[in-house]
Formats: sequence, C-alpha cells, structure tokens
Amino acid sequence: MSAPKVGFVSLGCPKALVDSERILTQLRTEGYAITPDYDNADVVVVNTCGFIDSAKAESLDAIGEAIAENGRVIVTGCMGVEESLIREVHPAVLAVTGPQQYEQVVRAVHEAAPPSHEHNPYVDLMPPQGIKLTPRHYAYLKISEGCNHRCSFCIIPSMRGNLVSRPIGDVMSEAERLVQAGVKELLVISQDTSAYGVDVKFRSGFWNGRPIKTHMTQLASALGGFGIWTRLHYVYPYPHVDEVIPLMADGKILPYLDIPFQHASPKILRAMKRPAFEDRTLARIKSWREACPDLTLRSTFIVGFPGETEDDFQYLLDWMAEAQLDRVGCFQYSPVEGARANELPGAVPDEIKQDRWNRFMAHQQAISTARLAAKVGREIDVLIDEINEDGPVGRSSADAPEIDGNVFVQADRDVKPGEMVRVRVTDSDEYDLYGALID
Ligand code: SF4
Repeated sequence: MSAPKVGFVSLGCPKALVDSERILTQLRTEGYAITPDYDNADVVVVNTCGFIDSAKAESLDAIGEAIAENGRVIVTGCMGVEESLIREVHPAVLAVTGPQQYEQVVRAVHEAAPPSHEHNPYVDLMPPQGIKLTPRHYAYLKISEGCNHRCSFCIIPSMRGNLVSRPIGDVMSEAERLVQAGVKELLVISQDTSAYGVDVKFRSGFWNGRPIKTHMTQLASALGGFGIWTRLHYVYPYPHVDEVIPLMADGKILPYLDIPFQHASPKILRAMKRPAFEDRTLARIKSWREACPDLTLRSTFIVGFPGETEDDFQYLLDWMAEAQLDRVGCFQYSPVEGARANELPGAVPDEIKQDRWNRFMAHQQAISTARLAAKVGREIDVLIDEINEDGPVGRSSADAPEIDGNVFVQADRDVKPGEMVRVRVTDSDEYDLYGALID
C-alpha cells in the first residue's frame, strides 16, 4: 500500500509559511507523501493569504485552479476567515479552516485521505492508529524514510524501500521554522537515525550559507544550536554514536538515547538480523554513562522470538540487570504478515511468551523504580505538557512524550502548557516523578 499523497500550495507571508511547515511536518510524520503535482495528489491543501484584495483574488484563483486540476481541495490560512465567500465562489471545497488552525487542517486531510500507517508493533513510536496531533510545543522531525536493514521480524523495508535521507538543509530549515513557531522540543525520528546520510555518502549540504554534512552528529550539533530540547530516537549503537555523547554532556542536546535493542542474547540478535549488534554494548553503555552521568537510555525488547530458549531469556534478564536501562518497553513476539521471521523454527508457545513478558516487566520495573528513586531531592527542568485537575503535568529530559513517564508538579502559581519550569523532585514511583515548583 503506498502512502496517501497531499499536494500543497502555500501563498502569503512568512507567518503563513510557518503554518504550512507545521502542517507538512505533521503530515510527513504520519506517513503522508507531499507532492508538488495536482495530478498525483489524493487531496490538495491551499494555504491562502487574505491580507489585501489582490491577495484574496490570488487565493481564490489558486483554489479554483486546484479544484479544476484535482477536485479535492482543503483551504486554510488567512482567507479561511471568509469561509462564506470561499464557499460562494468555490462550493466544491471540502473544508475551510483559518490561520494557525493546523489541527483542523490535518483533521480535514485525515477525512479526505485517511493515513495509511504501516504499523510496526515492535519499533513504532506511534500507536497503530497514528499519532494524535502533537501539542504546539513539541514536534517530530523526520530526517529520512525507509531502511537499509532487513531485520527478520520487520516489513518496513519491503514497504518503504531503502534509506532515503532528507537533505540536511531542508531538515535544518524545517527545524528553524518550527523553533520560530514556538516549538520547545524537537524529536528526531526515522527508521534508523544513526544511518542518516549513509545513502548520500554523508555529502555536504548547505544551511544558512554554511556547509554541513548529512550526518547524525553534525545534525545533532546544529540542532543543539537552537537552544531548545532535541531528543534522538531510533539510534543504533554504531561506533559513531559515541560522538553525540559529548553533545549531551555539554547540554547541547538532551542526554537521552532511544536505542531499540530488542534482545541481548547473541543467538537471538543474529536470528533477528539486528544492525550494529556486538558483544561490547554493555561496555559502551558504561563509558557513555561515565562521559554523561545524566544519560537516559530507553529501549524496546521482544520476548518469545522464535528459537528463544529459557537460557536466552535468562541471558536477557542478566543483561538488563547490568545495563540498568531507564525506560523500557517490551512486546511478546507475534508474526507480522510477510516477515521472514515467520519461517524460523522454534515458535515459543503463547503461555511461555506471557510468562517471560511478566518476568521481564517485573525485573525492569524494579530497575526503573530504583533509578527514579535516585532522583528524589534533585532539581530538574520540566516542560509542561498539560494542566489536569491535580495541576501541571510535564516531562523531564528523561521522558519522551507518549512513551515515557511524567513529572507531576505542585505549583503555587499559574503555569502554562509549553512552559519550561524548574522543579525539585519530592517523590517517585515505578514510572513517574513528583515534584514542587521552584521559583
Ligand atoms: S532497523 Fe530493522 S526493525 Fe528498524 S525499520 Fe529497519 S528493518 Fe525494520
């Protein structure tokens, strides 16, 4: 199944461009392809300008052209405030939304061309139904499509093809516009972030007139220059990952690495055909933590993979005890249609999978609880996500949205979503922290 395509026409001022960027970022993150053609598009979004009469006329013309060429058109932007005029001239438009209403535009796109999310239950950050619209203070920054690996349980490469890195200049410009739009946290995503640029031999691109290599380290360093939170997801432990640790220790990017290890037993990792797998991982983790003591390590694991014996599983538990990862997700293996792992011998019975999952979770919960308890008494930065009935709820550098824990904050003043606050940690449990605002 190919990704639905969205045509995009952006008219107007830099503010409208920021809106366009935000909409495009969201759509790209959800797996939509963005196309410059009307012909190929499943739906066309026209971001309009309504500042002066000539701009209005130009916007109405652009809507008319999109309707004539494609027929399925969503209107957004400044002229959207004049919905009745637009509908009078162009009754065929599917939806009309106003300036900065990017949530509504994306919703209209969902209705006109539903997202085809190729869900990979083992590695996807996103839930199967796709991600909900992210609050305005954080954004996912997708740096590449596809993957050069062929993990035996995964069908993403056969659906999306080999790795194609986005030009670094485009990625940086997108990031810059997101920062200008008020985003406080960028979450770098891809299928394999550490392979960024491999397909183009790490060639140099340009950003703001300066050469910059298509490479994870250079990207991380440049993103660090924005002075907001940058979080790296889907990093495989290639040797060059060591180079981003100093950026974390210096506070340039968040001391957070999301590395989907999936298992620890060499035999199972080989059967999974995992990238960058080597025996020295524990030693690397140790040296990363020496260089950056605040480093948070998040990972996902699969238990009950075909051929996994009790010894392999015990190896994994012992490895977890050594690795002391902070945040961990675990899935029971189940066949994905079209994956080569389905043909592997040694299927693990469901009740054993369930038993291993229970043991794994209990084991990791004890580790996570102890690691969080060690934070009580410390002062941390917290980015507020929402205010619920008990008060502000946010995240620390150790928590990616949706998948990690929260920090529940006691505040004696008004705090708003998107605000960065300083908090003293007063309590902890298995996954979350509790703290009080420091002013
Ligand atoms: S690294 Fe492996 S699991 Fe991840 S997308 Fe590539 S093939 Fe799939």
